[in-house]
Amino acid sequence: MERTLIGSLREYIDSEVQIKGWVDVARFQGKMAFFDFRDRTGKVQGVVFGKPEVLEIAKELKPEYVVAITGKVNARPEKMVNANMQNGDIELEITNIAILNESAVSPFPIDGDTRMVDESVRLKYRYLDLRSERMQKNIRTRHTVQKFIRDYLTGENFVEVETPLLSAPTPEGSRSYIVPSRLSQGCFYSLPQSPQQYKQLLMIGGFERYFQFARCMRDEDTRGDRQPEFTQLDMELSFVKEEDVISLNEKLLIELVTKCYPEKRIQQVPFPRMTYQEAMEKYGNDRPDIREDKNDPNLLAFLWITDFPAFEKTSEDNVDGTGEWTFTHNPFAKPKDEYAEDFLAKRNISNIISTQYDITLNGYEIGGGSIRNHNASWQKNTFEIMGYDEKRIQENFGHMLTALQYGAPPHGGIAWGFDRLIMLLENEPNIREVIPFAKTGEGKDLMMEAPAKVNENQLKELGIKF
Ligand code: ASP
Repeated sequence: MERTLIGSLREYIDSEVQIKGWVDVARFQGKMAFFDFRDRTGKVQGVVFGKPEVLEIAKELKPEYVVAITGKVNARPEKMVNANMQNGDIELEITNIAILNESAVSPFPIDGDTRMVDESVRLKYRYLDLRSERMQKNIRTRHTVQKFIRDYLTGENFVEVETPLLSAPTPEGSRSYIVPSRLSQGCFYSLPQSPQQYKQLLMIGGFERYFQFARCMRDEDTRGDRQPEFTQLDMELSFVKEEDVISLNEKLLIELVTKCYPEKRIQQVPFPRMTYQEAMEKYGNDRPDIREDKNDPNLLAFLWITDFPAFEKTSEDNVDGTGEWTFTHNPFAKPKDEYAEDFLAKRNISNIISTQYDITLNGYEIGGGSIRNHNASWQKNTFEIMGYDEKRIQENFGHMLTALQYGAPPHGGIAWGFDRLIMLLENEPNIREVIPFAKTGEGKDLMMEAPAKVNENQLKELGIKF
């Protein structure tokens, strides 16, 4: 018999069907057995009644057993209808049960909201956690949103390009993970903090409009709601100014909310804008929560922050700080034209405003970008302000400066923190709830037990000794 999905059972009233899935709940009452079954499309109640041979097998069923259930779809009598439940008006009268696989006892109940469960246990048994209704919804909606963005940007003539993971460091203000090379002993790859340099090189490569759902890796100290790897919606465009990037992204966000989250309301369209200085003076931070009603779970208050300072004094927090000044967002952001004179003369550095823009939502930064230095001498000037000497500039960024000399178009872009956006849209308290295989705050994968020690031979091959 062909499998029928639980979500479409209501089309089969009075017919015999077979469903396949998991036992969600099992209850036994004398000569009767009641079950909830679950597949990817939802849940349904099944009952065994008056069939001793079926009851025999039914008694073996425990939660999370994988089963094929044959039965007749019955409409429930009116007084038994549960209108608040999917399939609350039908019931499966079970005629046959096949056990496809057994299950050990789940370390936590997954027929409810698993947020109540100790998170380390959830992360260790993530595959069980993922079966819960809320996690299923989060990950499936994440896919829906991703698909929407892919289609939208493809329609706007963007090309999706994959950029390397094994690479050289791109400074984005934090530490990079490094990977030892076996073939070039003593040398290391860096895992990308973002595809920043590659996307700029794609503009020099003539693509004009690029996007990617890019995995980014940053080796940060355990600080709040961070993950060592996360996903950005990354994009870059040629022949654009700030306004072009801002308006394209604003349109995309509005369409996305309208199509994927029709129950939500955007507080203000066009999105309001505020300069960095204004935000700091008025709110004391650069991602103010401007919601009119902070208790409304369906209210989305987007806000652009613009006119960031280009440089800040180095401090212990600036991993890269060699000189007195360092970049505020990334070193490729172009200063605004009005500040060109000071910038090129390396004067009044603290006053120089960059083309950087951030998009914030309900008090979170959900993205940021800028127009870039497409001119090699401007780019070099930034590194000089940061106190890099010629040797370091050439060693770290020689490839970028060379590339910029070969007809680099004016370009700029943005990257969204995709996990964070989904977290906010799903009203989840942290990004781990929308990342299928999340790590702990200490960067551990409790399920795969990573990071882990490697064996001596592997280290020897890499030329590594502790
Ligand atoms: N690469 C930047 C980041 O990861 C975003 C951008 O400027 O496009 O924050």
